[in-house]
Amino acid sequence: MDPDNRVPHHETPSLGNPDLPPEGMENIAGDPASTRMTGPRNPVLESQFPSAVTAPGTDISTQPFFWSSFNISPRRQQRGGWAREVTQQDFAISDEIAGVNMYLEPGGIRELHWHQTAEWAYMSRGRCRITTLSREGLPSVDDVESGDLWFFPAGLPHSLQGLGPDGAEFVLAFDDGEQSESNTLLLTDWFAHTPPDVLAKNFGVAQEAFKDIPLHNLWIFPGDEPGELEDDQAAAGVEWGATNPVIFRLSRSQPRYQNSGGSIRIADSKNYTASKTVAAALTIIEPGSMRELHWHPNADEWQYYLQGTGRMTVFNTGPHANTTDFNAGDVGLVRRNLGHYVENTGDVPLIYLETFRSDHYEEVSLANWLSHLPPKLVSQHLNIPEDVLATFPRGAQGIVPLR
Ligand code: MN
Ligand code: MN
Repeated sequence: MDPDNRVPHHETPSLGNPDLPPEGMENIAGDPASTRMTGPRNPVLESQFPSAVTAPGTDISTQPFFWSSFNISPRRQQRGGWAREVTQQDFAISDEIAGVNMYLEPGGIRELHWHQTAEWAYMSRGRCRITTLSREGLPSVDDVESGDLWFFPAGLPHSLQGLGPDGAEFVLAFDDGEQSESNTLLLTDWFAHTPPDVLAKNFGVAQEAFKDIPLHNLWIFPGDEPGELEDDQAAAGVEWGATNPVIFRLSRSQPRYQNSGGSIRIADSKNYTASKTVAAALTIIEPGSMRELHWHPNADEWQYYLQGTGRMTVFNTGPHANTTDFNAGDVGLVRRNLGHYVENTGDVPLIYLETFRSDHYEEVSLANWLSHLPPKLVSQHLNIPEDVLATFPRGAQGIVPLR
């Protein structure tokens, strides 16, 4: 590639310049001097964001950044595990969801705690033992593994512990963009900041019982791997069927959409009754295939890219349309009602999560809309003959397979 005269990284055909006043790659065709890059350059970043320097000809600037990444978030490392987060403080557009990516070594414990917001989680690797209490004060102790979810309503206490042999790695979605993993109510903090005579009175033991409590919180710390799940459940007083299930096996659930291009699995309060404030979709897109053009009327979409590489254009009022590239560990945000697609631009399956601050999943498919209108009406808008419109998909298909 000529460093001073970039050629487009990918083919992005357009039908002409859609923008007035003229701007964008289509407008500068035939005038290569105008693309000359004289600004500072970072070839490594540019290689990951081909759409940033050379956007598709259909893009028109600009709108708030909708890309962030756990890969640029400082990792909080402690004995027992680590965490990194993307909150609204660093990702301004995301006011409904904040995200955390955490690892717990085998036996590693995320300290008993609670917080002001609900916690939704997707297990990406390994196994984890979780404990919580229901609103009725009834306990749950469960083991989750890769592909499973948990949901803790705001204010309900919980703990997480990595299990062998690989520990646990997961992503948390809080239902408030300002929630931080460093902003939680910790068991050890409360003990250390309560007069010992009050602790003694509360628990009916001598003050000396508290002489060795930690004076600094633990947050994440190494622990002994727990024994059999059934033993822990019995010890905690779990009664089977007493509470709604806290966990959901998302990757084992029936897909909403499935074809040769991939699949979409939905978990919301309809099939996962515990999850009252976060709905989610686990999306797998095969190379060259695409999440179809659509939007979501009910909530912003907070995305977490687990594997592969993808490209998304967000269509906004104005009009504004911006294309950004995503890699594993990245986070995306699409405001409610803004049109988008996600295309697999790599050679391995693209896997990402869509989460929404809502009790239910909702979408409008462009293909479904256009196929449920009088054809003559659509034809007059787009100058596409009715016989061609008749070959459009007759409804939502979720994923468009590579043809
Ligand atoms: Mn928590
Ligand atoms: Mn979407």
